Parts: sequence; structure tokens; C-alpha cells
Amino acid sequence: MMRNVIVQFLLCGSLIFGTWTALLCVYFYHDQESHGQVESQEPTSVWSLEKRLQPPIIHGPGQTPGYPVPEERPSENETKEWNPFLKSGKHVKLMDPELLHGFMKYGFNTMISKNLGKARPVPDTRHKMCHQKHYLAKLPTASVVICFHNEEFNALLRTVSSVMSFTPHQLLEEIILVDDMSKFDDLKEKLDCHLEKFRGKVTLVRNQRREGLVRARMIGAARASGDVLVFMDSHCEVNRMWLEPLLEAVAKNRRVAACPILDVIDPMTLEYQPSPVVRGAFNWHLQFKWDNVLSYEMDGPEGPIKPIRSPAMSGGIFAINRHYFNEIGQYDKDMNLWGGENLELSLRIWMCGGQLFVLPCSRVGHIAKHSTGNRTELFRALVRNNLRLVHVWLDEYKEKFFLQRPGLKSVPYGNISERVELRKRLGCKSFQWYLDTIFPELEASKGNQ
Ligand code: UDP
Ligand code: MN
Repeated sequence: MMRNVIVQFLLCGSLIFGTWTALLCVYFYHDQESHGQVESQEPTSVWSLEKRLQPPIIHGPGQTPGYPVPEERPSENETKEWNPFLKSGKHVKLMDPELLHGFMKYGFNTMISKNLGKARPVPDTRHKMCHQKHYLAKLPTASVVICFHNEEFNALLRTVSSVMSFTPHQLLEEIILVDDMSKFDDLKEKLDCHLEKFRGKVTLVRNQRREGLVRARMIGAARASGDVLVFMDSHCEVNRMWLEPLLEAVAKNRRVAACPILDVIDPMTLEYQPSPVVRGAFNWHLQFKWDNVLSYEMDGPEGPIKPIRSPAMSGGIFAINRHYFNEIGQYDKDMNLWGGENLELSLRIWMCGGQLFVLPCSRVGHIAKHSTGNRTELFRALVRNNLRLVHVWLDEYKEKFFLQRPGLKSVPYGNISERVELRKRLGCKSFQWYLDTIFPELEASKGNQ
């Protein structure tokens, strides 16, 4: 009996180890294959989970022919300066147990993260026209809300320290960290200790139970006092002048939500890579995707640095006037964990009189990490959240969604009466209006497109 258990244990162990090694080998093979080609941008939230749970949609940057590639890539020499491998002269050992362990626990290379430590230089990935750009002399202040659940210690500290170093003191009201019931020991006293040096600017709130990203953000927002809320993931590094374009867009129109371009931090090498200018979109599965910017959006003297109207936000990082966020109903508090809340907010903003823009001069790097945690739990939350969105916002077009996902028709999604009421109270337009005016490409598309 005991021997059986041990044999099973060993079999399982080698299976898991084998799978991870194979995955990492595939990763490197792919990495070498794509070297020199357009890097694909890793979208956040919904996509990262859905791409593992559903057949992938092929419609991202790097996959669409003629995709806009940023003109200003770091030169070879610049790259050498900040590539952690080249810098430290290290090479990845695929079989390293520490590497595998880090990937399974956090979804990225924690050995390099540890080496990089609490701060590192990142390349300026902005278009050169951004360097000449001037912003309003008086900009509103920002409260940066960063929620985390079991985040890797160094990645979290790099997020905080990069915000501290690339944000003018007078514009940064505060950074609010919301610990969504993390279990890891280094996120307790050790974190408190390291945050001491930011005392006065950084507040840490600890949830008594895991709320999920949606409610954790609402908890952070309720504590904030800046004019503008900026939501951010806990594994980011902001770039030069990242906040000013976002604040200016919100200052000029309080009903604007402003998103940066998400640069990619490679989960294996932690290399900071520039992304092309793209807009956020989705398909009838409600899978988020990046999409080409329509050429007329880049007309005029500002050309490639002009704010881009975006049908949807990826969800990870955006700025919004704090009062406006409250007026339009924050988030749906009955959505669980994360996923779908980004599209729900995008539809709500557009349909209820607001606007959503991507600001090409604002760049924030985000670790395109692999998903960790309980997939069943995440999938269940994603389905529930999407169903809540569908029943509140899609009107007769909900049938288009159920055509793609017929199995979800009978799945319960809780009580939505408060959100339906909110839509009425705000006097929001129809989904037909959204399709006609903001995102006609969706109506024309079928299924996975
Ligand atoms: N997060 C959280 N509570 C949760 C799930 C996620 O606070 O229950 C945080 C997480 O630590 C991260 C952000 O929400 O800072 C977005 O999640 P994640 O990065 O896993 O999404 P991805 O970017 O991979 O799609
Ligand atoms: Mn993330």
C-alpha cells in the first residue's frame, strides 16, 4: 500500500517536472524562432486566463500582417545595457529547480527578479515626438492603487519604487497597496519593513479575506484622496513621464478613462520590451484582444502620439477621475476574483457618456506572467463575471454571445438588479449604439475574429 503511494507520488512528481521542463523548452524554442520578428504584446487579465482555457484567438500584435511596429526600438548597445542576462553574464539553466519552483509559484523567472532587486533602469520606449511634448502646468493629483495577491516580493517592490522614481512628487498624492489576503511570509513584516522608507506616500491595506481584484480595487479606491485614481498591477515598472499624459487626458475631460501602452516584461528574461501602439478590443466570446489602430486615428500633426480611441481597456492599468469613477458605479461588487470587469467598465464608460483612450506617450511595463493559482476557481469567476456583463449591457446582442457559448445560457450569475438600475439611472445608451458608433468592427465580425 505504502509502496503504491510512493510510486504514484514519484510518477506524479516526474510528470509535473517533465511537463514544466517541456513547457520551458517550448518557450525557448519559440523565443529563438521569433527572435528578430515583431514581439507580440501580452494583454492582461481576461486574455491571459482565457488563452489557457479556450482556443486562442489569433489577432494580436505581431500576428496581424502589417502591424504597426514602434519606430523607436532600443539599439543593440542600449539593449545590452539593460538585458539582465547579458549584464550579469548568466545563462538560463532550464533544469534549475529554483527556476521551475519560481515559475510554478509566481508565473515568471524569480531568479532574475531577485537579481534585479528593488529597482533597475528600463529603456525609454516612447516615440521621440513624446520628448518634445508639454503638458498642462497644473495637473490633478493621482492616487495609485496597486492590489496584490501572493505577489513576488521584488516585483512588487520594483512596482512601488518605479512609481516613486518616475512620478513628480507633487502629482503623486499616494500609493495605496491592497494586500488581498496573501499567504506568503515575505509579504508580511518584511514588506512592512521595506515600505518604511516610503512612509508618508505609501499606505498598505490588508484585506481580512480574499476579495478578488474587483472588490480589492474598490477597497483601495475608497481610501484614496487624490483627484485621479490610477489602478495598476503589482508586477509593473513605469516608464519616463508615464503619468503626465494620463492625467492631462483626464484633466481635459473628467469623463475620460486613460490607458497607457503596456510594454512587455518578458516572464523568462524580465527584459523590458517596447510594444506597438494598439487599441483594446474583444470578440463575441468576450475575450479581450489588442487590435490595429485605425489609420485615421493617427491623422493630424500629433500623428503617432495622438490619443487613440479604444473600444475597450485591458484592465490592468488605467487612470480615471475619482469622482467620475464613483458616479458611474465603480465596479460590479458581485463580480468575483478578476476577469470581465475590464470589459464591463469599458462598455459602461462608452455607453453612459464617457470616453476611453490609449495615450501613446504613456508607457508602463507589465510582466506578462503565466497564470498560477486555482484554474477552476478562476474560470468559474470569469464565467460569472462575463454573464453579469452580458445580462446587464448586451441587450438583444446577448444572443450573439450565447451562440458562441451555448453552454453558459443556464449558468447562474447572481442578482443583477442593482446594476440594471444603475444603467437606467445613468441614462446609458444601447449596445446597438456602442456597436454603431464605437466598435462597428465587432458587429461585422463572427465568432473568434
Ligand atoms: N489580484 C488580487 N486579487 C486576486 C487576484 C489578483 O489582488 O484575487 C491582483 C494581482 O496580484 C495583480 C492584479 O490583481 O496585481 C491582476 O492580476 P494578474 O496580474 O494575475 O492578472 P494578469 O495580468 O496576469 O492577467
Ligand atoms: Mn498582471
